[in-house]
Amino acid sequence: MLDPFGRSISYLRVSVTDRCDFRCVYCMAEDMTFLPKSEVLSLEEMDRLCGAFIRKGVKKIRLTGGEPLVRGGIMTLINSLGARIGADGLEELTLTTNGSQLEKYAAQLHAAGVRRINVSLDSLEPEKFTSLTRWGKLEKVLAGLRAAKAAGLAIKINTVALRGVNDMEFDRLIAWCGEEGFDLVLIEVMPMGDIGPQRVDQYLPLSLARTAIQRTWTLDDTDYRTGGPARYYTVRETGRRLGFITPMTHNFCESCNRVRLTCTGQLYMCLGQEDSADLRAPIRASESDAQLDAAIIEAIARKPKGHDFVIDRRGPNVSVPRHMSVTGG
Ligand code: SAM
Ligand code: SF4
Repeated sequence: MLDPFGRSISYLRVSVTDRCDFRCVYCMAEDMTFLPKSEVLSLEEMDRLCGAFIRKGVKKIRLTGGEPLVRGGIMTLINSLGARIGADGLEELTLTTNGSQLEKYAAQLHAAGVRRINVSLDSLEPEKFTSLTRWGKLEKVLAGLRAAKAAGLAIKINTVALRGVNDMEFDRLIAWCGEEGFDLVLIEVMPMGDIGPQRVDQYLPLSLARTAIQRTWTLDDTDYRTGGPARYYTVRETGRRLGFITPMTHNFCESCNRVRLTCTGQLYMCLGQEDSADLRAPIRASESDAQLDAAIIEAIARKPKGHDFVIDRRGPNVSVPRHMSVTGG
């Protein structure tokens, strides 16, 4: 699938639920209203949609959310997608998780064919972790990480950089990832969804963080790319990768290879734009995939050139009204 700018679309991210067992301060408001279950696709419908994308050349699927591992019966979908890994099918099935349920699921994920996961963790201090996630317990996530390691899953830690909150922990996180054998990616906070007035205060440009990190660590350039927005270095002292995702200070759209499906079957062609295509109507309209295939092709033809994120004290604190949990980051 080629979009109007010649980019090949080979990566689908699927938000399997908008619900979550955490309420991270940069992601959700405390009193979120979630979608009624009747609007959410069944796992069978999600599997059918993923199958259509795989037939059209998608090679990588990432499950996300909300928290993907709180969706009831999620292993049915993961097992079914895992069975599609192989020649002419998927090259990779992966997920992004907050780690709270990993202790229970790590071995099952590996058995299903998952080999790498991203785990979000913004602080190694138990109290700060709970205040950032509002409902999370650090010890539970650390236990999940141990289980994931024991199951043989490669782990990348995602850390959202929050000014004055966790920027003083970056050195510790880099050292810890080195000891544990994890890669680390720092992410600039993005203006998605109304979470209250604090957004401008949370934003830390990663150019500043990198300068501070380089006082302690040697960052060697690498040409490692995942087709995604992260720019990677190798930390010479630990040998692990350190990535920076900088949507606010550096536009990464020219190499974008991905589209995003919500749990209600809306396809977003760009994380930072509002345009979406409804794929739920075509799958519910007919058992044949003809209408669905046509809707996918039509949507890819509308993929925009790039996002318009701005965090500015003078402007509104939201660039797109959806919360990150809708399209899953
Ligand atoms: N619940 C899972 C998790 O936390 O990993 C998956 C969904 S979560 C929405 C995906 C990623 O988006 C997480 O790494 C999270 O930290 C990040 N995220 C959420 N809101 C964000 C925001 N406003 N700006 C930047 N990253 C955000
Ligand atoms: Fe939940 Fe992930 Fe959003 Fe945190 S970042 S509230 S864990 S969806």
